[in-house]
Amino acid sequence: MHKVNLCDINPAYPVGKIICLGRNYLDHIRELNNEIPEAPVIFCKPASSLLENGGQIRIPAYSQDCHHELELALLIGKAGKQISVTDAPGYVCGYGVALDLTLRDVQSRQKSKGLPWEIAKGFDTACPLSDFVPAEKIKNPDNLALTLQVNEKIRQQGNTNMMMRSIAQIVSEMSEFFTLEPGDIILTGTPAGVGQIKSGDQLIGEIEQVGRLVVSVG
Ligand code: ZN
Repeated sequence: MHKVNLCDINPAYPVGKIICLGRNYLDHIRELNNEIPEAPVIFCKPASSLLENGGQIRIPAYSQDCHHELELALLIGKAGKQISVTDAPGYVCGYGVALDLTLRDVQSRQKSKGLPWEIAKGFDTACPLSDFVPAEKIKNPDNLALTLQVNEKIRQQGNTNMMMRSIAQIVSEMSEFFTLEPGDIILTGTPAGVGQIKSGDQLIGEIEQVGRLVVSVG
C-alpha cells in the first residue's frame, strides 16, 4: 500500500484517490491554446503513480515527450461530500509539492480521439510528491509562490494567486463529484512554463512555506 508521510501530523497515511484539476491557471491555458473551461477539468491518477522525494522518474517507452507540471498538492484529512466553500478549509490537513507528469504526445493523441488521458498521466512515477506540511503552518494557500527548476534553470514561476479557483472552491467543487476521504490528495493545476524533461535531468520544485521536491529522470 502506498503511504504518504505527514511529518508531524501523522507518520504515514494510506493514500486514497489522487484527483487532479486541469486548466486552473490562465497563463497555462493560453500556452497550450486550450479553451477556458466553464466546468472544472478533472482527472485522476492511481496511487501507484506516486514517487517519493529524491526518487527517479521513469518515462515510459511509449512516449517521446514527457512534460513537467508543478502543482500545489492538498491532503484531505476528513471525510465529506458536498462541502461548502466556507467549510472547505477544514477538510485540508496538509500541503505538499507535486509534479503532474504528463506524456504530452500521448495526451494529444488521446484528446484528438476523444479518449481518456489516464495512460498519459497515470504511469508509474507520474506523480512525484513531497512530504506534507500541516495546514495550520500555511498562512494563505491562495498566495504562495511556485518555482520549478530543471538543471538549475527556471522553467516555471507562478503564484497560487493566479489560479482561477481558490483552494476552498477546488475542495468544494471536487466534493460535488466525489466523496472526499482522509488520505485523498488533490492536485490544483499548473502555471505556465510546462516543458519537456529528458533522461539525466534534475528537477527541483519549490513552493513557498510548503517545501521542496527534488527528483531526477532515469
Ligand atoms: Zn496538471
